[in-house]
Amino acid sequence: MDEHMETLNSPITKNLEALIIGGGPAGCACALWLHKLGVEVLLVEASDRLGGLQRRSPYENLWIPGVTGRTGEQVAEALHRHIVTAGVPHLLQTRIGTIRPSTEGYEVTFGTTRVLTKHLIVATGTKPNAGPFLPSDCVAIGPGHPMENITVGNRKIAILGGGDNAFDQARFVLQRGGKSVTIFARTTPRAQAVVQASVPDARVVIGPYQADQDQMTVNGEGFDVFGVMYGFRASLPEGLHITNENGYVDVNRQGETSMPNLWACGEVTDYWHPCVTTAAAHGVQVAKQISLRLAANPATIRP
Ligand SMILES: Cc1cc2nc3c(=O)[nH]c(=O)nc-3n(C[C@H](O)[C@H](O)[C@H](O)COP(=O)(O)OP(=O)(O)OC[C@H]3O[C@@H](n4cnc5c(N)ncnc54)[C@H](O)[C@@H]3O)c2cc1C
Repeated sequence: MDEHMETLNSPITKNLEALIIGGGPAGCACALWLHKLGVEVLLVEASDRLGGLQRRSPYENLWIPGVTGRTGEQVAEALHRHIVTAGVPHLLQTRIGTIRPSTEGYEVTFGTTRVLTKHLIVATGTKPNAGPFLPSDCVAIGPGHPMENITVGNRKIAILGGGDNAFDQARFVLQRGGKSVTIFARTTPRAQAVVQASVPDARVVIGPYQADQDQMTVNGEGFDVFGVMYGFRASLPEGLHITNENGYVDVNRQGETSMPNLWACGEVTDYWHPCVTTAAAHGVQVAKQISLRLAANPATIRP
């Protein structure tokens, strides 16, 4: 029997009212509210710090009402510290193994632990699309640190993609001393007009293109660096098959999926206008719904 099967058959090591997978703004907000509402909750995060995608961002976050002068990384660190100082139970560097519905809720395994939880909340966010490219010392996948970690001074940069991130990264690269930036967009760029206008010095090539990582060429022209800005896709724990045709998790107004007591919040749900504030707000809404349901019917797991 492999370790996986052993865990599935091992005794339940913990009973919970709520288990949250993913410690970005949505998962942290949900965990904090559930904890303060008196719900027995555990927050499980795959990486070594809480904060989610904000950990990728060295840029000042100008978009959270009431929060000024903080980079994304500092926002992430504040989220991490808040969970720790509030005493919210959490596990870092923990990947979910299996998830199984049961008559009493959901059985979730990680490592050699098997947990039975009444409510399961998926807050696993998104990850950048890589297309056919692999990260390297001259190819960055997605915005933020991966791009910032690449030397661009006096180098010729190709940015692949036509959204806000493509134009933002083009601007940052030029500010960091890039020799030239060319943005390759297969169709008319989707980036907001104001974002496009902020990089007048970038060359924009619209139409089909062939980018070759081995040769570092686009349409036969050589470049020193590629920035791949192909947007994001939902990141889901393995074995959870609840996505819609776009790969995201559909939820109702309360934040519940089509499976009872299985909830999702934040960017994994393709939330409108994804950002820290909306992700956190979604996590709060889900926490309130769960606490109301537990309070209304504490003895019964299923609504
Ligand atoms: C470079 C950059 C700059 C940004 N700048 C801003 C900005 O200025 N203002 C703003 O409001 N927003 C900004 N955003 C967007 C913002 O960070 C996201 O909208 C927000 O983080 C989404 O929160 P989330 O909790 O839904 O998901 P995420 O932040 O993606 O968090 C999901 C968490 O789940 C974890 N996870 C995934 N799978 C598993 C698993 N199987 N098991 C356990 N854990 C798992 C991940 O490690 C991650 O910690 C920026 C994003 C980027 C990339």
